[in-house]
Amino acid sequence: MASDATRQLFLTGLRNAHAMEHQARELMERQIERSTDYPQVEARLRQHLEETKTQIERLNTIFDELGESHSEFKDAAMAFLGNMAAIGHAVAPDEILKNQLANNAFENYEIAAYKSLLALAQDGGASASAVNTLKQNLAEEEAMAKWVSEHVGEVTLDYARRTHAS
Ligand code: MG
Ligand code: FE
Repeated sequence: MASDATRQLFLTGLRNAHAMEHQARELMERQIERSTDYPQVEARLRQHLEETKTQIERLNTIFDELGESHSEFKDAAMAFLGNMAAIGHAVAPDEILKNQLANNAFENYEIAAYKSLLALAQDGGASASAVNTLKQNLAEEEAMAKWVSEHVGEVTLDYARRTHAS
């Protein structure tokens, strides 16, 4: 049974997720431009950027289903994600490394956000297909988090080699 309080919590979580994904998209667009020396990173970011655009569409579909317009609200500023974005901006020689660490944090933040949403979804009034949609987003975040975690060592050594070579 959907209680009004749970529905409100769920909607707030959805709006936060929407803001988070917009932040993710901007972050990756910036990082892609700056990752051309690291083709493996660039390729994975491009893949996840496309996934992220689809994630935003999935969230919009849920808003539509719930009769909530996604254009009626402004995405809330989120301090944590703002900080991550600032790291994305930073022009430092080891930017590529800082971005891997930031992305590790960001993807794990997204995982927690979707788990939180899924905990509320059923009582919050989400349909079975909306729940599946959130699970698809979660699975993509988990795959990206795994990739970042598995490649941070390799990217670090690649960076170290380039630094010594120059
Ligand atoms: Mg995402
Ligand atoms: Fe993500």
